[in-house]
Amino acid sequence: MDISRRSFIKWVIAGAASASPFGCAPSNKGGNKLPEAALGSESNKVCHDVRDGLMRSGFPPPSRNVDVVVVGGGPSGLAAAERCFGSDFLLLEKEPHMGGNAWSETWEGLDYCTGSAWMSFDIPEVRALFKRWKLDLPMIKGNDSAHWDGKWIKDFWHKDPDWPAYGQLPYPKSVQDDFRRFLRETAKLDRVKDAEKLDAMTFADLFSGYDGRVKQYWDYFGPSNWGAQTQDTSALVGLTAVHEWTPSERHTFEGGLGMVTRKVFASFPEDQKKRFVLGAAVFAVRRAGKRVNVSFMKDGKAETVSAKSVVMCVPKFIVKHLLDDLPEAQSAAMAKMRYAPYLVYNFCFDKVVWNLNYDNWAIGARHFTDFIPADYATHADGGT
Ligand SMILES: Cc1cc2nc3c(=O)[nH]c(=O)nc-3n(C[C@H](O)[C@H](O)[C@H](O)COP(=O)(O)OP(=O)(O)OC[C@H]3O[C@@H](n4cnc5c(N)ncnc54)[C@H](O)[C@@H]3O)c2cc1C
Repeated sequence: MDISRRSFIKWVIAGAASASPFGCAPSNKGGNKLPEAALGSESNKVCHDVRDGLMRSGFPPPSRNVDVVVVGGGPSGLAAAERCFGSDFLLLEKEPHMGGNAWSETWEGLDYCTGSAWMSFDIPEVRALFKRWKLDLPMIKGNDSAHWDGKWIKDFWHKDPDWPAYGQLPYPKSVQDDFRRFLRETAKLDRVKDAEKLDAMTFADLFSGYDGRVKQYWDYFGPSNWGAQTQDTSALVGLTAVHEWTPSERHTFEGGLGMVTRKVFASFPEDQKKRFVLGAAVFAVRRAGKRVNVSFMKDGKAETVSAKSVVMCVPKFIVKHLLDDLPEAQSAAMAKMRYAPYLVYNFCFDKVVWNLNYDNWAIGARHFTDFIPADYATHADGGT
C-alpha cells in the first residue's frame, strides 16, 4: 500500500452529506499553531426574501433583450449555457463563482470538494460528454463503506444480494436476510415496462413486509442524494438508485467533482464567458406576453432582462418561489424535494487519517455524515 510510505500526505475529509450552504476550511499552515477555521456559506439573502414574500414588487422594466437566460451556474447551468454558445444568451448565478454544489476549493496546493465527490460513466451520454470535454477522471477502486453503531463495513454498497458485506451488518441474521431479500425481490420489478406505474408509487411502498431497518437505511440515504426520504421519493427513483447506482465504477479528480466544473468553465471561450454573470440573484421569472422577464439583484440593484426562453437550473425548492404561475400541486411537490441543510466540514491533515474507502457513510448518525478523503483517488490503496 503506497500511502503508508508517504510521510506527509495531506488529507481532506469532507463531511459531504448534503446540500450544505456552508463550507469550513482551515486557512493557515498550522505547525504548532492550531489552524484557523474559515466559515463560508452561500449568499441566500435574496432567496430568503423571495421565500418570505418581501420581493413581490419593484420589478424594473427590461433593460436588455436576449434569446435565452440560464438561471444558475452549477453543473446543469454550465451544460445548458454551453449548448447556447454562439447565440444570444445570458447565465445568471447568485454566487461569486460557478459550480453550484459541485465546487472545489484549494488549500496549500491541495484541492478538496465542498460538495459533490464522485461520479460514474455508466450512462453513455455522460461518458460522451466527458470525452468531448477531454476530461479523464481517475478511477477509484472499491465501493462505499458504511458505518453502523461503531462498526465500519468496507465496500458495503452493492446490489448483489449475496454480497458478503450484508453478513457483517450489526443486526440479527433475519434482518441481514431482509436486506438481501429486498435486493433480490425488487430486482424482479421491470423499471422500463412499468416505469409509469412505479413512478406513481412512493419508494416507501416497496418496504412493506421487510424489517423496518431496511427502509430506515434508505430514509437516511435519500435526503443526501436526491433530497427526500422514501415516502417523498418515487419508487422508480429509489429503485434506480438501489439497482443502477451500484456497483458502478467511481471516478473523480483529487478534489472531487468541483474540479470538473472548474476545468469546464476555464475551458470555455473568453467571449462566451462574458455572458456568465456572477453575483446575480434571480428573484422573479414572469411571463410577459410571448416573452419571459427575469428579474435579479446585482450589486444591490434590481434589473430585468427579457428573454424568449428561460432554462431554470436551480434546485426545485427555489424554482417554485421564482415562477409565478405554477399549479399548486406541482409547487407543493417541488417544495418537498430538498436537501437537508447539513454542515460540510473540510479538514486538512498532515498524516493519513483514513484509508478504508473513498466515500464512507455513517448510517443512522444523528446528523447524517459522509467522510470523503479528497486525495484517496490519487494516493490511497483505492487509487489506481
Ligand atoms: C454535499 C453534496 C454531495 C454530493 N455528492 C455527489 C457525488 O458524490 N456525486 C454526484 O454525482 N453528485 C453529488 N451531489 C449532487 C450534485 O452536486 C448535484 O446533482 C449537482 O450539483 C446539481 O447541479 P445543478 O446545476 O442542477 O444544481 P446546483 O449544483 O445546486 O447549482 C445550482 C446553482 O444555482 C444557483 N442559484 C440558486 N438560486 C439562484 C437564484 N435565485 N439566482 C441565481 N442563481 C441561483 C446556486 O448558487 C448554484 O450555483 C452532491 C451534492 C451535495 C450537496
